[in-house]
Amino acid sequence: MTFPDNNGYFGNYGGRFVPETLINALIELEEAYRYFLQDASMQHELNDLLHHFAGRPTPLYFARGLSEQTGIMLYLKREDLLHTGAHKLNNTLGQALLTRFMGKKRIIAETGAGQHGVATATVAALLGLECTIYMGEVDIERQMPNVKRMKLLGAEVVPVTSGSRTLKDAINEALRDWVRTVRTTHYLLGSVSGPHPFPMIVRDFQKVIGNEALQQFSTITGKLPDFCIACIGGGSNAAGFFHAFINTTTQCIGVEAGGKGLYPGGHCASLTSGKPGILHGALSYLLQNDDGQVMDVHSISAGLDYPAVGPEHSFWKDGNKVTYTTCSDKQALNACITLTRTEGIIPALESSHALGYVLENRDSFVGASVIINLSGRGDKDLDTILKEVNI
Ligand SMILES: *Cc1c(COP(=O)(O)O)cnc(C)c1O
Repeated sequence: MTFPDNNGYFGNYGGRFVPETLINALIELEEAYRYFLQDASMQHELNDLLHHFAGRPTPLYFARGLSEQTGIMLYLKREDLLHTGAHKLNNTLGQALLTRFMGKKRIIAETGAGQHGVATATVAALLGLECTIYMGEVDIERQMPNVKRMKLLGAEVVPVTSGSRTLKDAINEALRDWVRTVRTTHYLLGSVSGPHPFPMIVRDFQKVIGNEALQQFSTITGKLPDFCIACIGGGSNAAGFFHAFINTTTQCIGVEAGGKGLYPGGHCASLTSGKPGILHGALSYLLQNDDGQVMDVHSISAGLDYPAVGPEHSFWKDGNKVTYTTCSDKQALNACITLTRTEGIIPALESSHALGYVLENRDSFVGASVIINLSGRGDKDLDTILKEVNI
């Protein structure tokens, strides 16, 4: 049995909780996507762009220094080396080609930290698509370099002033745009969240991470890794990475942002301390108060600031296929500095959560082989990092 099922469910999670006007668009999208998968020239073009434009395959790097220091055999899957500096481009390249395949000329997207906005604006420039990015006013202030990048690439950036003026509100605004413009416009959703078929499509385009890592690791060692570890915002880099390992002996661990601590408003740990509910068209684990109101979230890394998580992760959690845990702001920062000073790699603060969990729980991993998905590079976080560590 493969998931999602025909109705877009991963066990109890997922579905399509959207206004009537969007149901047809989602059905059309799913159909177009199935043709896209069977179209040899489309698949060839995607693979060609992933190779020559994006820079795949990304290396699997054995972190010798950090391994010697910790007694863990630590490997890093280097998505930070992908064009635009994070795994996001795997998905935006795929969906941009799908947009053209569907005969649409405009894409819209939401962005929080701006990474998905930049990856979307990049493929829009590449394929000559019109591009509008919705971004909360608060995030626009926090992430100005990425806003400038998007504008330089030719995208229109629309400030969102409703609600908490962050990612969750930007998604609402993008969905509103899509209801009005669905005939000409594709909503290029950025994570494994939202209504069916998005969680499936985004996961599929990100599966290249795990497929490559599995092959690279077995070429080097002749074995499977003991652990695969990734950070979780909406869950796309983790889903794409874990998928190749999910029915093997490898243990997968997803690390959510523990923020300043597990008190209300202090973190983004939907799977660790949320409960099932509906947000942005899908049923999944969600941070909500006793009245069912979606909670405000906090993390030092804007890319993990999302109160829900993709439905497949909820399914994996309930089925004990993946372990979900947290790493705090401080632990992530420490890991970021450690990797920078030991290996000469400045990781994104999002990715630092995955490494932070391993370093904080070193005893559980000593002697084991661990692949950490280094989802992105830390250049965008320099101000935050330097402010916190007083260098
Ligand atoms: C966006 C982002 C994330 C979080 O998104 P997922 O959908 O959970 O992968 C993690 N790391 C980096 C570098 C990002 O840009």
